[in-house]
Amino acid sequence: MTNPDLLVKLQNTIQNVPDFPQPGIQFKDITPIFLNPKLYEEVIKDLADFSRGKIDAVCGIESRGYLFGIAIAVVLEVPFILIRKKGKLPPPFIGEKYDLEYGTAEIEMRTGQLNTGARVLIHDDLLATGGTTEAAARLVQKQGGIVAQFSFLIGLKDLGGEKRLEQFGAPVHKILEY
Ligand code: AMP
Repeated sequence: MTNPDLLVKLQNTIQNVPDFPQPGIQFKDITPIFLNPKLYEEVIKDLADFSRGKIDAVCGIESRGYLFGIAIAVVLEVPFILIRKKGKLPPPFIGEKYDLEYGTAEIEMRTGQLNTGARVLIHDDLLATGGTTEAAARLVQKQGGIVAQFSFLIGLKDLGGEKRLEQFGAPVHKILEY
């Protein structure tokens, strides 16, 4: 359960940018959090508390999932594994395609970095439709990992992301919801 004081601070810090990067999108800009190291520390504490004792590895989704994901892994003393957009990782890796509003995208993960049976936290900054996170969860499963938890700074309520993640039967933590 997130400290109500932290919720207020984040609400006052995260900026809403209307119509970016396309008309109709309310872009949530988290970059002001990094101007305030104490606030960043509180966010990491909140996210680490959710996962403490429950995971063996963190998988972070490019690129804003790295900003908090690595710190969660360091605090909890577990490995961090990068999930990258197609074409960035050297082999060996596996990929997973997913649908975008128009067309498809693909994400990739190095093989040989996740132990079979490892309980994995999948982390990103924001859950919208859940398409990216669902593909990340499939990559973890393809490598014999257990999708144990999901965490996000922000969840956008009306886009169906949480429903899409129900199939994995893993708890979902969002600090803030819009
Ligand atoms: P989705 O696959 O639809 O859940 O989209 C999640 C990814 O898109 C995350 O990596 C977010 O960083 C990014 N994203 C989607 N919608 C927004 C938004 N309104 N503001 C900021 N980032 C967004």
